[in-house]
Amino acid sequence: MSLLSNKVAIITGASSGIGRASAILFAREGACVVVGARRQPELDLLVEEIRHEGGQAVSLAGDVKSETYARALVDLALTRFGGLDIAFNNAGTTGTPGSVPALELAQWQEILDTNLTSAFVGAKYQIPAMQARGGSLIFTSTFVGHTLGLPGMAAYAASKAGLIGLTQVLAAEYGAQGVRVNTLLPGGTDTPMGRAFTDTPESLAFVQNMHALKRLAQPEEIARSALYLASDASSFTTGIALLADGGVSICRT
Ligand code: NAP
Repeated sequence: MSLLSNKVAIITGASSGIGRASAILFAREGACVVVGARRQPELDLLVEEIRHEGGQAVSLAGDVKSETYARALVDLALTRFGGLDIAFNNAGTTGTPGSVPALELAQWQEILDTNLTSAFVGAKYQIPAMQARGGSLIFTSTFVGHTLGLPGMAAYAASKAGLIGLTQVLAAEYGAQGVRVNTLLPGGTDTPMGRAFTDTPESLAFVQNMHALKRLAQPEEIARSALYLASDASSFTTGIALLADGGVSICRT
């Protein structure tokens, strides 16, 4: 029995990394997936791959900062697949790391809008679409700003910590309607975003060593945690911040 049979899922940040791996996994588990990101060619390849495996997928390119795009993703789920059960709001950016005095307000705003305001506009349209039959909303946060104060990451940390507050309030507001809301906190993951911080042998070794498991995650490993939150395997879990972080939060060596 597949974990997501008869479910419809929106996954953002699906052109790459954790979102791409999650779209493939969710589709293998029986979900019809609506995949989003800005790069249409990457989304086209993903949809082709999922369909080639016998899954159902459709894409819509756009910017998660846009309220119009958030609404269009939900409309697409409803018109193409007849409902919405899961929304994995996963797209994100670190921006360019730097100290707060050096950070331009426009850079701060871009990171906050991409990582946090996107979650608000996503939830604004996803929750009403889920209320009739319940659902699972998932955001992607990080250990940065939750269990570790990483220098140079102020806007990223603040935006991702904001997701945890949003998660708790939404979970309390919509639990009675069967809508669960949770946040996933990956550790260092081998994706284009993760590789930007591990692009020399020294930086890779440093980041690996921060983790108790002494390695980075593969995106498929984080996708399995997203699958847990998306599926009925987590049916009594709501309002949590789930670390899937290889022990980076508890390691001091
Ligand atoms: P990634 O491979 O670089 O993927 C980032 C995704 O976000 C891409 O699909 C990108 O697509 C999309 N995206 C970025 N800005 C967007 C925008 N304005 N509108 C629409 N889509 C946008 O990185 P990843 O590691 O998989 O990141 C996924 C999530 O995990 C992020 O929220 C990140 O903060 C979080 N995370 C990552 C790590 C790590 O070590 N990798 C650790 C903790 C948390 P387009 O460029 O095509 O738009």
